[in-house]
Amino acid sequence: MKIKIMMLLLLFAATQARPQAAVSFAESFTGNTMRVDYFHTGTASEEHFSVDRILNDGAWAGSRTVLADELNRGLYFYEVTDVATGVLLYSRGFASIFGEWQSIAEAKTNWGTFHESVRFPWPQQPVVLTISKRDAANEFVPLWNTTIDPAARNVNPASLLSSFSTKTLIENGDPATHVDLVILGDGYSAAEMGKFDGDARRLIQALFEVEPYKSRKADFNVRLVETPSAVSGVNKPHPGSFRRTPLSVSYSAFDSERYALATDNLAIRDAAASVPYDAMFILINEQTYGGGGIYNLYSTVAVDNKFSDYIFVHEFGHSFAALADEYYTSDVSYQIPEITVEPWEPNVTALLDPAGLKWKELVEPATPIPTPWDKEAFDAFSYEIQKERRELRAAKVPEARVEALFARERQTMLEMIDGMEYKNTTGVFEGANYMQYGMYRSAIDCIMFTRDKQEFCPACRRAISQVIDQYTK
Ligand SMILES: [Zn+2]
Repeated sequence: MKIKIMMLLLLFAATQARPQAAVSFAESFTGNTMRVDYFHTGTASEEHFSVDRILNDGAWAGSRTVLADELNRGLYFYEVTDVATGVLLYSRGFASIFGEWQSIAEAKTNWGTFHESVRFPWPQQPVVLTISKRDAANEFVPLWNTTIDPAARNVNPASLLSSFSTKTLIENGDPATHVDLVILGDGYSAAEMGKFDGDARRLIQALFEVEPYKSRKADFNVRLVETPSAVSGVNKPHPGSFRRTPLSVSYSAFDSERYALATDNLAIRDAAASVPYDAMFILINEQTYGGGGIYNLYSTVAVDNKFSDYIFVHEFGHSFAALADEYYTSDVSYQIPEITVEPWEPNVTALLDPAGLKWKELVEPATPIPTPWDKEAFDAFSYEIQKERRELRAAKVPEARVEALFARERQTMLEMIDGMEYKNTTGVFEGANYMQYGMYRSAIDCIMFTRDKQEFCPACRRAISQVIDQYTK
């Protein structure tokens, strides 16, 4: 009976967010970073974890005061608890490539394995690492845990002696109270390191032209790590341009021609750890439109496209702040699943509970909810552009033709939006998160909506600021 109660208590403890005890950073941690590399394996309906290695990733660059995650974002969540006391020491939300892979058709019939890492301050005493995932109601449920004794032989405390050249682009202060962004590059030859440096500076400048980054630039440190490639350019399976590069960036992730990801996590993590970092960005030395962003992992961007500045800021919205896409006129959006659960992303809502709207403090009481906008004409135009885009890609035309189409799309969309009554109003506008109906965003336009890098919507701006706060407090 006693055992049964204990088990119930344990179960209860595992499924509830643990209130953080007053953990003192200095008493609980050494000041280094523990990196747990693991394999995340499964199918559409099951998933498993196995530890690969546990390493010292250098001095801890994250917050020393916000140890328990305050944002509750991401499909997954990891928690580090003290074995002896059961006290929560550290937690963060994250997303993973495995989590996305599970939703594609291939995962119904095949197994997949992805190499992943979680990082946290190096504990002084044995800890339990628990990884949880959202259930159908979007609540986190534990999937797996492992006990880590920092003194055990399978835990490697050796310092990483990086062989990569590094550079500091922006230095504003102590990593513990700043957002430390590391920029990696793939598909740059040794002779193109000057271009890498120039691309990084140009894109970082574009990021800091947009709010809230603009007014919080002093909260960031930016460094780059050089990982020269033997060839110029990265792997592009759709047009049949194959390459092997140090970080393994490839277009056609999940067979989407514009989706560029890298799955060689070990190489990426070892390169990134050459400098203190909280967030990673991988520049792709290519013109072909593309990129990607996974929350708390990294963003990628093709640097030589006409829209590179925009892609950089947009994808960083995904990886840094867990923002959802607000656009919806891509191919997948013709399928409209029933929406019964509020999405967890901070910038989209299913509006199942208008009184509990997640950005209600940003909306004036007189604003109609949902807020009207000229959706029909906008959608008709947007679907027409998507059709042309597919035709151009199928015909494998030069990139400039696709850029011209996107430029025409952007021009027309901005003109349409400019004529709308609520263009400057924070409200609840239908169409978001790949859903034409039943999903809403906070403004007509946003960097997560159109291919225009002017401005984030108010919900996105607030969500990004909250992440910066969590790193700088
Ligand atoms: Zn937005």
